[in-house]
Amino acid sequence: MKKSKLMLGNSIVVRKWNLSSIFKAIRKQGPISRTALTEISGCSAGTVSNHVRTLIKKGFVIETKKGISSGGRKPVQLMINPNKAYIFSIEIEVNQIKIVMFDLEIKIIKKSIIPIISKDDYKKTLEQVFFEMDKMMEEKNLKSDNLLGIGVAVPGLIDKVKGLLEFAPNLGWKNVHISKIFKDRYGLPILLNNEAKAAAIGEREYIYPKINNMVFVSINEGIGCGIFINGELYRGASGNAGEFGHIIIDTNGPTCHCGNNGCWETLASESYIVNRYLKLSKSNKELTKEEIYQRGKNGDEEAIEIFSEVGRNIGVGLVNIINGLSPELLVIGGDILEIKDYIDEEIIKKLEENALSISYKSVKIKFSKLGSLAAVYGMADLIIEMRIKFI
Ligand SMILES: [Zn+2]
Repeated sequence: MKKSKLMLGNSIVVRKWNLSSIFKAIRKQGPISRTALTEISGCSAGTVSNHVRTLIKKGFVIETKKGISSGGRKPVQLMINPNKAYIFSIEIEVNQIKIVMFDLEIKIIKKSIIPIISKDDYKKTLEQVFFEMDKMMEEKNLKSDNLLGIGVAVPGLIDKVKGLLEFAPNLGWKNVHISKIFKDRYGLPILLNNEAKAAAIGEREYIYPKINNMVFVSINEGIGCGIFINGELYRGASGNAGEFGHIIIDTNGPTCHCGNNGCWETLASESYIVNRYLKLSKSNKELTKEEIYQRGKNGDEEAIEIFSEVGRNIGVGLVNIINGLSPELLVIGGDILEIKDYIDEEIIKKLEENALSISYKSVKIKFSKLGSLAAVYGMADLIIEMRIKFI
């Protein structure tokens, strides 16, 4: 297949030429003329014209006279038909679920965050999701036919081909056929992904499209990572590469869900903060992470000390990632962002002390800009990528 350079924003991305690339260029730069599309894609005018014809015929793209005129007759411009179809992006977290409906321009149409009522019971939890989805569709007067697909991000190990959630330790779910369950109900194409990888895709696509070597570290109850190498998400032989949460940083450390002791996520995640606080404060009340964060923000010294400690522990794992992969960019995301002002200095101090200077000099460290929505944006992007190719 012919490869071409497609300019998106200020970036040049080398990608295989297809309908989705054209669609994406129109989405990111539209209203745009066919001539401009031909110029930025490096493809022939005929190829561009054919793809555009297909997109218009199927109703995904419309012609408009909006846009800048260079004097005289206004050129016909192309833009996305945002209401042609909608996308559902679901992120199942450990205690809550995000359900977001996007239009084709990847604008949020509806968003709902619901607490998980009975965590151990995946059937009940998915019923909660279906209830919300059905409600949103009803409010917008939509049927399954109006949807392009459903993307589901989960905090666990998956078999992407089978659409199977193999193991989500922090949820306690094993071998759940997520894709089949959603497909049986809605009859739509479903994509299942690990939340950290979905978030990495979202952050790169929308915030850092120029960066080709990047690691996204998602810190929630556990820790997962998405790795971009030369502009491609690295999945490894099992499809689950990036489980840096289970690199061992202290062989005498606490026991992890995976069976080992001292995995990074046992010492640097939100679960660590909660467990440590409950232990040190001798609180006999079960506190949520949100309550502990609030206590810290109100000046609770014990909480603040634990935040610093977790910052140092996050730094230890990041040292390993930076030394091992030497990325251009390392993005820290996940719910830990809630306390980013309490951990940032400790993280940087650890990196300055322990990372190999040659790798540390070349890496930029950032907190996620998409924040808690990174994964749902990533899933929306993947659904468009998958579906538009075959319309
Ligand atoms: Zn582990």
